[in-house]
Amino acid sequence: MSGHRAVDPVTEKSHVQARPLPGFLQKALAFMPGMNASQDCPDVHVRYLVVEHPAPCTCIAEWVYPDAAQRRALASAFGCARVVWNDCLRDRKEAHAAGLPYGTSAELSRLRITQAKRTEERSWLADVVALQQSLRDMDTAYKNFFDSLRGKRPGRKVGPPRYKSKKDTRQSIRLNTNAFSLQEDGTVYVAKVGSLKVTWSRRLPAAPTSLTVTKDSCGRYFLSFVVDTEPDILPELEDEAGIDLGLSAFAVLSDGSKIASPRFLRRAEKKLKHLQRELSRKAKGSKNRAKARIKVARQHAKVGDRRRDFHHKASTQIIRDNQAVYVEDLAVSGLGRTRLAKSVHDAGWSAFVGMLEYKAVKHGRTFAKVDRAFPSSQVCSACGFRDGPKPLHVREWRCGACGTVHDRDRNAARNVLFEGHRIVAAKRAETLNACGAPVRRAPVPAQRGEAGSPRKGQTTQAGIPGL
Ligand SMILES: [Zn+2]
Repeated sequence: MSGHRAVDPVTEKSHVQARPLPGFLQKALAFMPGMNASQDCPDVHVRYLVVEHPAPCTCIAEWVYPDAAQRRALASAFGCARVVWNDCLRDRKEAHAAGLPYGTSAELSRLRITQAKRTEERSWLADVVALQQSLRDMDTAYKNFFDSLRGKRPGRKVGPPRYKSKKDTRQSIRLNTNAFSLQEDGTVYVAKVGSLKVTWSRRLPAAPTSLTVTKDSCGRYFLSFVVDTEPDILPELEDEAGIDLGLSAFAVLSDGSKIASPRFLRRAEKKLKHLQRELSRKAKGSKNRAKARIKVARQHAKVGDRRRDFHHKASTQIIRDNQAVYVEDLAVSGLGRTRLAKSVHDAGWSAFVGMLEYKAVKHGRTFAKVDRAFPSSQVCSACGFRDGPKPLHVREWRCGACGTVHDRDRNAARNVLFEGHRIVAAKRAETLNACGAPVRRAPVPAQRGEAGSPRKGQTTQAGIPGL
């Protein structure tokens, strides 16, 4: 492998960089069919993200049923938080346009909260708490944006903070521990709103560090608690999995198992499509249109809930059963502009991959994304022969070199497994090397063509012939 893809942190465009691999890895790769170090294969690129977060936190959401007075208080809290956010954002944008320094949050807080409360047009801000949190959230939004610009933040690019609108279908307010408390009787007290009745579905594992009250598009309210959790390291396993997220099945694993979208979810999605068509037929501004819109919003919420539930179950199962999980980085935002857009967004892959990632962190598993430029559907997973691109309708093909008949998705999943395994091993070897540890017995990816998945024991103990 002579090409190495680097991602420009500013443009997020990748370019091929001639950065040779360490010598021992080149030698190791020379023993792998299809991964020959001397073979020029500029299309096989690596971009990986091995997740290492020290303190995982969990978000726990519960439904809540505020009474009429509490709903009014919440509505004004949403409104005030939005006004403070928009006022401060405007100040920062204007300062930026005028070439002035970026206002600190202390200045903004004095000007837009403390002083504004004394003016006639913003006097109603005095009735609400948690406005400071709005400012802190904006600082976080700006930090994420700047980090993303500088390439310090993995994952997709983050845009600058945006103005909030009264017409946003989702309204929310975030509270820190000063503004809410959990009561003995199971209610949650929110300052200036009162005690909210909660239907608890589970116990909170620890005291929450923040609370977000959200009103969704169909008028339901829920509380999301952020709780710092201790990592729950699961016993080590030998199995590893590559995952191909497909359109025919929801996901195909490298061991050949398929996860299909459940029937009830497909049915709910079908009904949603039907309701959306109904909505589009109603005259604009009519009462029937308003009714149809609520129906669509309710069905949307239902589909969302069911899908999330399905994603949770599937991701938990995969993380429990495998020591390492590798997925193809699909860059869904890129696919979203193509004709596949609809089904891609419906499948909600990015949410699913996000769950795999945080669950891997929580349970001490390895997780890595394999660059989507990696030709997982072109390479034979048995012998490593590259058979060229195949149109999407080709579900099965025979390798031109070794004659193995491949199921397209399973073959792709196996390739993702090999590639993920290889990049994680290479990353570990690099780290070891940098720390001055002996590289003589560096981890080597398992040979292709072996039956079953590569075993952890083999990879860590394999010596490199000739070294
Ligand atoms: Zn082959």
